[in-house]
Amino acid sequence: MSDVFHSDLIILGSGPAGCTAAIYAARAGVQTALVQGMQPGGQLTITTEVENYPGFSEIIQGPWLMQEMQKQAENCGTEMKFDHIKEVQFSEDGSDVHKLIGESGQEYTCYSLVICTGASAKWLGIESEEKFMSKGVSGCATCDGAFFRNQDVLVVGGGNTAMEEALYLANGCKSVTMIHRRDEFRGEVVLRERVKKHEKINIIWNTELEEILGDDMGVTGAKLRNNQTGEVTEQNFMGVFIAIGHKPNTDLFKGKLEMDETGYLQVPAGTVHTKVPGVFAAGDVMDHTYRQAVTSAGFGCMAALDAARYLDERQQA
Ligand code: FAD
Ligand code: NAP
Repeated sequence: MSDVFHSDLIILGSGPAGCTAAIYAARAGVQTALVQGMQPGGQLTITTEVENYPGFSEIIQGPWLMQEMQKQAENCGTEMKFDHIKEVQFSEDGSDVHKLIGESGQEYTCYSLVICTGASAKWLGIESEEKFMSKGVSGCATCDGAFFRNQDVLVVGGGNTAMEEALYLANGCKSVTMIHRRDEFRGEVVLRERVKKHEKINIIWNTELEEILGDDMGVTGAKLRNNQTGEVTEQNFMGVFIAIGHKPNTDLFKGKLEMDETGYLQVPAGTVHTKVPGVFAAGDVMDHTYRQAVTSAGFGCMAALDAARYLDERQQA
């Protein structure tokens, strides 16, 4: 593919941050293109019920919400690109043109870039986790829960994701065991109460996953270690769901943009601008504190307004 695709503004990512940035930029009259990435719609497409996104009095479905946001962005004039960016070259020659290269081979150029590449699930990194990946080990209950109907499953983690995964799995599984490395959940109080009250969910505190056990057919159980006493016990499970948080998708920007020690893009407090003129960051890729759909959307809005201002000033110069 040889033709270079140019748009004055390019947005990377189609989660709440990217879609909101696209809606605001396109409505401001900016020529806007959005590269969707490998997960069109972002993280909310792997969940079911969303009950905290403002504007809906009834519970809505995450994938539906993201379809609506993408349609809204398109209706406002955003050009959607089905690609995943593998390389970025920020302007260094004073030309103020940033270059991007997609997995498709397509080359893109823009004067302003809004990075909304979000975050992805983290893994424990133990050997048996990799060995049984997709053979009983999963990072998404809504995607794989149905395979474990009427079976015993294990959920690792203590945040909102782990609790939601456990509640979702409890609908169809025989039992759900949750292990958490501390003796208190990290997630919201309302979810904590639901999990604790659920008759099918058994919580084991101060406990970590030592090893996932299995055979040629897949997972059969797990070795659990109490991190207070050191005691290791074995239990039978057919599925193991790892729900221990997320890692920002910033590998693309290593050595090019400032990041903290865990890889989150760093921007000055209260802003969304990076150290590269015209390059902005919004959503879970730069926010490790709130990490919500609504806050990501808010940062997306800020980034679009700043990008529009940058492009305006650039044109006047
Ligand atoms: P993401 O949603 O992570 O989107 C990132 C986007 O970037 C994706 O489209 C991806 O394809 C794209 N991308 C990545 N790399 C590239 C690349 N190199 N090139 C191009 N594109 C790229 N929040 C709530 O407020 N309420 C909830 O009920 C809720 N439930 C959740 C349930 C689960 C299971 C999970 C995992 C999260 C949940 N969250 C919830 C958190 C919420 O989903 C996130 O805060 C939000 O999606 C972050 O939005 P984002 O746009 O920053 O990034
Ligand atoms: P999180 O809040 O970072 O929680 C991760 C959990 O996994 C923590 O309990 C952590 O333990 C544990 N953990 C991390 N590394 C571990 C390891 N190596 N071994 C064992 N346990 C480990 O991540 P999350 O639950 O994915 O949530 C991410 C964001 O999305 C949050 O902001 C959350 O509010 C949001 N979200 C919101 C909703 C909702 O609003 N309904 C739903 C899902 C997610 P410690 O507690 O000890 O650190």
